[in-house]
Amino acid sequence: MARLVVLGGGESGVGTAILGKLKGFDVFVSDRGPLKEKYKDVLTAYDIEWEENQHSESKILNADLVMKSPGIPDKIALVKQLVGIGIPVISEIEFAVGYTDATIVGITGSNGKTTTTMLTHNLFQNEGLNVGMAGNIGDSFAQMVAQEDKEYYVLEISSFQLDGIRSFAPHIAVITNITPDHLDRYEYEFDKYIASKFRIAMNQTEKDFLIYDADDPVITDWLKRHPVKSQCIPFSIEREFETGAYLKNNEIIIKTENNLFTMSTDTIALEGKHNVKNAMAAATVAQLVKIRKATIRESLETFQGVEHRLEKVLKINNVQYINDSKATNVNSTFYALDSMSAPTVWIVGGQDKGNDYTPLMAMVREKVKAIICLGVDNSKIIETFGKVADLMVETTSMDEAVTIAYKIAERGDNVLLSPACASFDLFENYEDRGNQFKEAVRKL
Ligand code: ADP
Repeated sequence: MARLVVLGGGESGVGTAILGKLKGFDVFVSDRGPLKEKYKDVLTAYDIEWEENQHSESKILNADLVMKSPGIPDKIALVKQLVGIGIPVISEIEFAVGYTDATIVGITGSNGKTTTTMLTHNLFQNEGLNVGMAGNIGDSFAQMVAQEDKEYYVLEISSFQLDGIRSFAPHIAVITNITPDHLDRYEYEFDKYIASKFRIAMNQTEKDFLIYDADDPVITDWLKRHPVKSQCIPFSIEREFETGAYLKNNEIIIKTENNLFTMSTDTIALEGKHNVKNAMAAATVAQLVKIRKATIRESLETFQGVEHRLEKVLKINNVQYINDSKATNVNSTFYALDSMSAPTVWIVGGQDKGNDYTPLMAMVREKVKAIICLGVDNSKIIETFGKVADLMVETTSMDEAVTIAYKIAERGDNVLLSPACASFDLFENYEDRGNQFKEAVRKL
């Protein structure tokens, strides 16, 4: 019996373990930290051996195959040791895709993955297709394949998951954009991170599709230097294409294989330029799988977006409070500020990821009336925007940040939480930060 070792007992690890067990592997799950009770129960129910708070080398180094969860870096000693003795170390999607015949849509990028994935899934569902949504989002892909395999999967795929693929080839790949992020996992070399994102296309053939943002010079430059085999379909809000998605007189036009889709951007429920791009990407996928135009239109008109992404919380005294806690890098905050149509009180800051804030400068001059720094170390933000902001305040409490914003904002203004930073200095994660913001707003 082949031995499958699963490193990391979270959602993807437990899913892989179950699929492995059902496919006849001898499975062992090992986690350096504690396992959640619900996962322990599931593993035990499937009669799968597991350990927590340790990695027992004697039980791990005799594996035939190792599935490493995306949170575990390649550089830890155990992984290096496994690779050194020639044991394949793969990711969940690589393992699971071998056990399904479904049509796979794989969505990656630095920003917009979750929004585009959920919108695409929504389009498939509205068409009545038998579709699952998984990957970096929600339930484990492997567990779905094991228990209720689908005809289509829409997978949100992070660069860490792509690092662990060997043969995985989505029928339709999407790259939403590429901006510097997670560079600590890529030896601070942007090229390595770009290469990781493009692994989504590395096993594709001429029958497959790659949909990408043609306004993103990082993507277009890379494609020039590293051509792919798949059929490339660009989307753009700046120029037109023979085949691809673009804007003309406020209309989205999508042209693929003698198929034409048009729709006014005014009726898209999601707001902001970046969301026009996400909508174009999702609609292009839908068009390729021949989803009806009426369904595409209806879905784009009704899909309201995802929690913590430019989420409208409340209007108080005609001031709109907006939760964009998921903006954990500069580029996502750029688009948040860009979509503000009223003077904005901006709550920013958190754990810096080596940020360069200068791309935001013009936007801050134009749109921001006050900056509230909410982080342990705000020195870089103060240094960058100190001269352009009329008003700048520092705090380490969400309640206080929201109360100050309430006092500053006047009728017609926006209060925007879009931190451009990770949340871990003051919060558990971005959801916790967004929830605390919403609670503080509701208390006003
Ligand atoms: P991801 O899953 O890649 O982190 P999300 O859809 O969760 O992407 O969005 C993360 C943040 O980026 C949010 O603040 C959102 O408003 C912003 N965003 C969404 N789509 C885009 C895009 N295409 N370009 C830039 N920023 C985006």
